Amino acid sequence: MNPLPYGRHDISEEDIAAVVACLRSDRLTQGPRVAAFEEALREATGAKYAIAVSNGTAALHIGALSLGLSKGDVGITSAITFVASANAIRYAGADVELVDVDPATGLMDIDDLSKEVARLESEGRPPKLIVPVDLAGQPADLPAIRAIADACGARVLEDAAHSFGATHTHQGAVHRVGDGRFAQGTTLSFHPVKHITTGEGGALLTNDDAVADTARRLRTHGISYDLAARAKDHDGPDDPFSGPWLYEQELLGFNYRLTDIQCALGLSQMTRFPAFLARRRSLAARYDGAFAEESFAGLLRPLRKEAGRSGAYHLYVVQVVAGKGEPLASVAARRKRLYLFLKERGILAQIHYIPVSRQPFHRATGERPLPGALAYYAASLSLPLFPAMEDADLERVLMALGDWAAIERAATTRPS
Ligand SMILES: *Cc1c(COP(=O)(O)O)cnc(C)c1O
Repeated sequence: MNPLPYGRHDISEEDIAAVVACLRSDRLTQGPRVAAFEEALREATGAKYAIAVSNGTAALHIGALSLGLSKGDVGITSAITFVASANAIRYAGADVELVDVDPATGLMDIDDLSKEVARLESEGRPPKLIVPVDLAGQPADLPAIRAIADACGARVLEDAAHSFGATHTHQGAVHRVGDGRFAQGTTLSFHPVKHITTGEGGALLTNDDAVADTARRLRTHGISYDLAARAKDHDGPDDPFSGPWLYEQELLGFNYRLTDIQCALGLSQMTRFPAFLARRRSLAARYDGAFAEESFAGLLRPLRKEAGRSGAYHLYVVQVVAGKGEPLASVAARRKRLYLFLKERGILAQIHYIPVSRQPFHRATGERPLPGALAYYAASLSLPLFPAMEDADLERVLMALGDWAAIERAATTRPS
């Protein structure tokens, strides 16, 4: 049997035809498909602006810069995330501070965020940017995070690499991730394991005119071709050194462009995005149903779902249940047994994520205790979940989990 990964892309014949059509056209980059893909992203999220870039990390980088993060500032992110969320803060020349997570959701712990902001304020270095992460596809508590950010003068850049298509309810209104109601910037990733793919790709969403304008220039070397608006700065038609060829670099930008070839794939994938999302949710509901059964009681449980939030399920995370007072190393050992047991059966689960504070590069930021992140890390495992996963694949995972549960139960109930 083929190994079953935790996630993978789904490419159709239509996707292939769309890419081939682009290859036969006269624009391979910066052509009409980029704008059309951005339009599709705006429509799907309700964002005023979408800026497509070469990957999700680039989106975080230009998002942080466009929101004003600069050298010597402090940026905050969650201790449980992919390293890119923290790295983007460092690319901007700022220091990273990590906030703990709720171990039952993996989402930024609001009390710990308040405490960390107060600590930074007392040191005279209030944060300028907060980067919450919608782990596994469930939105973080954006209204609470925005309120804390407003009170300390920070802006919010939501890392929505996991949550494209998710919604949350606030005061009776349903908000789509990326609609800009709470986060001044939101980033997406189109890496093949994510909701839709462009091979590599990402986007920054924002409703702020100035942020969008800066981000667009940062995407292309900091260059602006739109000189009409500043025609008065030039000597006019009589200046022999100026003319229609003029472009101006005003910022230190990058080449973070997404190609038309990639956007052709992205546009085609967007036509199936609703079906992808529905399939992820349906598979997640089947996992939820299984973990509600007696056979898994006290052994495995899904992440806690917060009221009013509808996840987009980039990941399906299950946790081994800790006994009362059980040391973390014992919980982690059980999770490792489960990981290896599944691997033996050709089921390639994954762990999302090792706390950022445990990475050698970021270790200096890990001086505050992060008990929630450690508990989350010890217990969590991402099970296979992707749109092309078949019902039989799900049965195979549940069968293996059932066998593991029976062995664990026998081991704990055996008289010693
Ligand atoms: C995938 C991912 C990113 C970065 O995306 P790339 O497109 O791979 O650069 C950032 N943050 C999180 C949480 C992710 O899962």
